[in-house]
Amino acid sequence: MLISKKEDFVIWTIQYSGPPAVLRHCKKCGRKREYICSGEFRVNAQQKTLDIWLIYKCAHCNTTWNSRIFSRISPQRLGAALLERFHANDEALVMQYAMDIALLQKNGAEIKLPDYQVIGEDVSLERTVSIKIQSQYFLPIKISSILRTKLNISQREFNMLLLNDRIHINTGQDLRKGKLTSTDTIFFLKFS
Ligand SMILES: [Zn+2]
Repeated sequence: MLISKKEDFVIWTIQYSGPPAVLRHCKKCGRKREYICSGEFRVNAQQKTLDIWLIYKCAHCNTTWNSRIFSRISPQRLGAALLERFHANDEALVMQYAMDIALLQKNGAEIKLPDYQVIGEDVSLERTVSIKIQSQYFLPIKISSILRTKLNISQREFNMLLLNDRIHINTGQDLRKGKLTSTDTIFFLKFS
């Protein structure tokens, strides 16, 4: 898609309220609860290998659930620098694993996506504009809800824009169901 003028190009940044919560049955509570990322790793040495988990806690009673990251890995393979970051509960490393939907799903977790804000210039539907949507971490957020939130329009108004062919996306996704698909997903949307 061609961008005709510099001023017609807008960047929206998705800012999440935090990492996704995990929904699990809590034995202590006797019901399904949200488990929140504690921001801490657990590193267990077993003979000559390490097990590493990211710890989650039931939001209601603090019962823990561990999301497995490494199983029986040798410290040599992991490397001293990375091991130190696990021991120090390095914040960026916590976020890397807490935002890793594929890892959480592999560990059998049901995920509750966090709230988010769309930071960036508001646009008018009266002009043609290309919009790039970016986020530091990839979460499968629906593109339609990002657009409706930021444009402050109803589902009906959004459907009308689609029906009248006024929104285009360079990925060819169906804008009714399409979701962000990677960490640095770039979308160009055009209102005309
Ligand atoms: Zn609980």
